[in-house]
Amino acid sequence: MARKFFVGGNFKMNGSVSSIKDIVKNLNNADLDPSVEVVVSPSAIHLVLVRDSLRPEIGVAAQNVYDKPNGAFTGELSVSQLLDSKIDWAILGHSERRTVLKEADELVASKTKYATENGVSVIWCCGESLEEREAGKTIAVVSKQLEALKAKVADWSKIVIAYEPIWAIGTGKVATTEQAQEVHKAIRAWLKANVSDKVAEETRILYGGSVNEKNCAELGKQADIDGFLVGGASLKPAFVDIINSSK
Ligand code: PEP
Repeated sequence: MARKFFVGGNFKMNGSVSSIKDIVKNLNNADLDPSVEVVVSPSAIHLVLVRDSLRPEIGVAAQNVYDKPNGAFTGELSVSQLLDSKIDWAILGHSERRTVLKEADELVASKTKYATENGVSVIWCCGESLEEREAGKTIAVVSKQLEALKAKVADWSKIVIAYEPIWAIGTGKVATTEQAQEVHKAIRAWLKANVSDKVAEETRILYGGSVNEKNCAELGKQADIDGFLVGGASLKPAFVDIINSSK
């Protein structure tokens, strides 16, 4: 089965009502490659605005979702709240949440399980720090993150994996095509060895880390790179060029 190319836009904690409306207008008016699945992820406060005004074929993702039903969890968003507002994607395990907010592998896996079992698809992020890469630990770090996910998740059909080396996020230091392909290939091999041939074949593995309209085409040609998770450049009109880069 051919894997549908996927481009996600992570707006992080950026944007005002006015600038988000401009981004939506730009995407609504753009000529987008219909063979690419696009999902954008605004801040929680802009989710409903974006969902209600964005063309329906573009998905909308929350940047977090909790692993419990509604209740006394101040500051969190529930799966049922997302679905009630027609938001059926979430980004989980982004390195900014793993490092700044100290989310452990187990919590990320638990939230991924709860979301996917209850109707929300997940862009699940993994990746190593610069120190870990320099120590030759990249594959071991990513494998450990995948193992924690596998311990909780049985159905992988609602999961898209984003490999995001921390040293490449927001730094302008993009991984080389060889560095990215090497890790993507290792992730697919891990899925084959530890989950199933089918999951290895069908799961989209995105690259994230300083992707822009200039470097995306080469990265997108690699055998195991099935798309991108784009941060900074997703706030700019050139996001459209990244979406269309595999044309
Ligand atoms: C991200 O936040 O997921 C990301 C990859 O950011 P940037 O593209 O800005 O490096």
